[in-house]
Amino acid sequence: MNPVFDGLPVTVFEVMSRLAREHDAVNLGQGFPDDPGPEDVRRKAADAVINGWNQYPPMMGLPELRAAIVTHYAHWQSLTLDADSEVMVTSGATEALTGAMMALIEPGDEVVLFQPMYDAYLPLVKRAGGVPKLVRLTPPHWRFNEAMLAEVFSEKTKVVLLNNPLNPAGNVMPREDLELLARFCTKFDAIAVCDEVWEHVVFDGLRHISMLAIDGMRERCVKIGSAGKIFSLTGWKVGFVCAAPNLMRVLAKAHQFITFTTPPNLQSAVAYGLGKDDGYFEGMRADMQRSRDRFAAGLSSLGFPVLPSQGTYFINVDLAPLGLNEDDEAFCRRLVADHKVAAIPVSAFYASDHVRSVVRFCFAKRDATLDTALERLANVL
Ligand code: PMP
Ligand code: GLN
Repeated sequence: MNPVFDGLPVTVFEVMSRLAREHDAVNLGQGFPDDPGPEDVRRKAADAVINGWNQYPPMMGLPELRAAIVTHYAHWQSLTLDADSEVMVTSGATEALTGAMMALIEPGDEVVLFQPMYDAYLPLVKRAGGVPKLVRLTPPHWRFNEAMLAEVFSEKTKVVLLNNPLNPAGNVMPREDLELLARFCTKFDAIAVCDEVWEHVVFDGLRHISMLAIDGMRERCVKIGSAGKIFSLTGWKVGFVCAAPNLMRVLAKAHQFITFTTPPNLQSAVAYGLGKDDGYFEGMRADMQRSRDRFAAGLSSLGFPVLPSQGTYFINVDLAPLGLNEDDEAFCRRLVADHKVAAIPVSAFYASDHVRSVVRFCFAKRDATLDTALERLANVL
């Protein structure tokens, strides 16, 4: 058995969802919306299942989806991409991340990661033989600076794995921080693998800036997206990778032996969805922002110290100022068992020097769900 995987605990999302079911709790842990997703996009998929092609689609993705990705990113992020040589469809962002780690890392290469980090990152890096170099981000702003980067970058740095907007922190990295990181990537000849799955879920008028658009990064950035987050259809597992041809060449080799393809009917529905110009994207953001505000106000009125949330489905509370006698994990276990609300302890996203006072809630829920959760949270503190 491979020791990296053999030694792993069950992912925190699965653990908390299981506890939520056991305790009949409101599940604000694992990040998935109550919203069923846009009906026209789901109908396109249904129609494609019944009337469309259900055999292997082209390995790199349906041409119509690759074209839609190019048009979508040109419109939303001012990116110029070539559909044939710079775009690939994967079975979710997870496959894209797995493939990128397998294709780009050689044993002994150093990989820069930012904590808190999405739970899949570290095992994938280690399984590929990478040596993790961890940058520790902390609340409330979760920002890195030059000194922090200088400590982890070296001639051995091969890859930087960045998630922006950042799950679980909910922050959106400002352009100057991306430019700083880009300077380090250029100086040390490193590739940035940028998990931008939350690119559309940003609030307060913020616009997502892709690392691919930052000076010097066009040839050394692998941009990863996911239809799951864009359309509130997290089970769909349709992801996309955009990268310069020299990188795509090797990423495609990983893809061809990991999944090879992604269901064609979902691909055509996503192609349709990416082209929507009926206000869907603005509406989704506005709805999410309204839910964020409703839940944040409720938490604050109950005395929870709420941290800023600029994007993602998540809002965090920092228990530190409350002087409780328990860490985030104990708090979450008590919350689900005694108060029937599931949340995620953010320490699960650290591998060392854990921040143990922050708890993540998913607010991408109906008002009634959020209100029930708030009622139950009323006598927690
Ligand atoms: N990366 C991040 C940061 C995520 O939050 C998620 C899912 N929530 C994924 C990757 C996985 O995306 P997918 O479901 O498309 O594999
Ligand atoms: N990305 C989701 C979250 O952060 C969960 C994904 C999963 O369950 N693996 O909650």
